[in-house]
Amino acid sequence: MTVSTHDSNSPTPVWFITGASSGFGEAFARYALDRGYRVVATARDTRKLSHLEALAPDRVLVHALDVTRGGQAEAAVAAAVTRFGRIDVAINNAGYGIVGAVEETPEAELRAQMETNFFGAVAVTQAVLPLLRRQHAGAIVNVSSLGGQLSFAGFSAYSASKFALEGMSEALAQEVAPFGIKVLIVEPGQFRTNLAGAAMRHMPVIADYQDIIGGTREFVHTMHNTQAGDPYKAARAIDTALRAEATPLRLQLGQDAVDAVRTHAQQLLADLERWAPVAIDTRIEDTATV
Ligand code: NDP
Repeated sequence: MTVSTHDSNSPTPVWFITGASSGFGEAFARYALDRGYRVVATARDTRKLSHLEALAPDRVLVHALDVTRGGQAEAAVAAAVTRFGRIDVAINNAGYGIVGAVEETPEAELRAQMETNFFGAVAVTQAVLPLLRRQHAGAIVNVSSLGGQLSFAGFSAYSASKFALEGMSEALAQEVAPFGIKVLIVEPGQFRTNLAGAAMRHMPVIADYQDIIGGTREFVHTMHNTQAGDPYKAARAIDTALRAEATPLRLQLGQDAVDAVRTHAQQLLADLERWAPVAIDTRIEDTATV
């Protein structure tokens, strides 16, 4: 395997991580430090990052970054360049979830979800791209979800944000490949983090939806602290994919994600084949032959 996310002049890769205060982001930082990499650990509250800094003070830069706050991404990238001279891997990890039916989700909640999970990632991507283009190397990792490939009742807002992230990432991958920049979409299943804990936003209940969404609400409660996935191993899988010469566009993480995305893709293909004759029979008739 070839390490192509950093060049040979760089002593060790630099990982820039959003939401490093908890869950995946914290595990990504620990993994990177264990590998000897350098880390720009960012979070809304930098006090939550002091234990990471203590692990390797000479290889960690801690910086404040709320991905919804204008200008903070640029400031964090500038600080990373001042300290380490480069960024090799930018990980858009910061995010949270919403549970509720479409009708139960106030527009302000939906917009806030998009602000963090989608526009936040776009802001960081736009802040880091000029540097990656100058380097002619690097990678952007966008942490989506299996919910970025498929959805189910109660997860509309969350999936909308992750579908948006995936659509943007798919185009971005083509736009920046000529600059030697990789884009990796990560689609985890259930991993042991705080996602389903206090940070999860439960929408006000409309009684009519109880039988429809109740199962999803219950699922979120029982999922907390029982998830099978190890975020540290997720970091290792991401690193393996990034170091491969042919990095995939999408990497599912966990047996549940692999199974769900496979079943969904098969269903998509089966529907496409079944309805293709109807779909194709929509051409404007050639008037010359009428
Ligand atoms: P956690 O709740 O443990 O971590 C979420 C992180 O995002 C925290 O560090 C939090 O910071 C940060 N964050 C939230 N909002 C902002 C913001 N506006 N600016 C900066 N940071 C912010 O959950 P996970 O580790 O699971 O979540 C990380 C990513 O993984 C998310 O994008 C999530 O959607 C995705 N994911 C998780 C799955 C899982 O099973 N765990 C499955 C699929 C996807 P703070 O400490 O300040 O709250």
